[in-house]
Amino acid sequence: KPSSSRWRRVLLKVSGEALAGDQSQNIDPKIAMAIAREVASVTRLGIEVALVVGGGNIFRGSSRAGCSGLDRSSADYIGMLATVMNAIFLQATMESIGIPTRVQTAFRMSEVAEPYIRRRAIRHLEKGRVVIFAAGIGNPFFTTDTAAALRCAEINAEVVLKATNVDGVYDDDPKRNPQARLLDTLTHQDVISKDLSVMDMTAITLCQENSIPVVVFNLNKPGNIEKAIKGERVGTLIGA
Ligand code: UDP
Repeated sequence: KPSSSRWRRVLLKVSGEALAGDQSQNIDPKIAMAIAREVASVTRLGIEVALVVGGGNIFRGSSRAGCSGLDRSSADYIGMLATVMNAIFLQATMESIGIPTRVQTAFRMSEVAEPYIRRRAIRHLEKGRVVIFAAGIGNPFFTTDTAAALRCAEINAEVVLKATNVDGVYDDDPKRNPQARLLDTLTHQDVISKDLSVMDMTAITLCQENSIPVVVFNLNKPGNIEKAIKGERVGTLIGA
């Protein structure tokens, strides 16, 4: 275990929206580069980093289903393809600064990326490569948060680090209630019973059942990704 670090292997979840920043474009290259730089500095310490990337900056199945006859499953496949675009972009950015990176997709697109093979993903991590898991879990009606929880359990990562555009979990909606307090720690059960909008229920219960802690933190503050990966206090810690 890297001496100064709490975690040895982490699963970093980057939502599509976080990648978009306040740009009108789908992906803000500056954000992709900021993520890559921070990931680079922790992989140099020997911490193993796997990523799950979302697709909401390009296409979200649940909000598009129903338009012009688009059924939910087809909409979700488009959403999953969107995550592959983000993954390829992030991979290119990481490799441009010298981090060896592999993309694995949940369904086969073998001209574009490797298929998801659990043992191979683990091998990449052991060799110091970053692995980006794309296309969610490969099934419609799921989210990339659930993919983050599932891949975390499968590869024996110790924590899901959820990078968002807010500082962490609040006891109320901070946009509507200026008195809302940022919570330091809480349990999975708190998230479920208070219906806090951290991640969807499928994802949070999967974390709970497998005793996977979740850190929710703001990706827009420089240094936060690095801090979260090193296990320093940042954002809200759930279930540890
Ligand atoms: N999606 C899916 N199955 C999965 C993961 C994702 O069908 O296992 C689809 C779904 O339509 C979702 C879209 O891909 O809306 C993009 O993922 P998500 O909304 O989780 O991205 P984020 O909110 O993190 O940007």
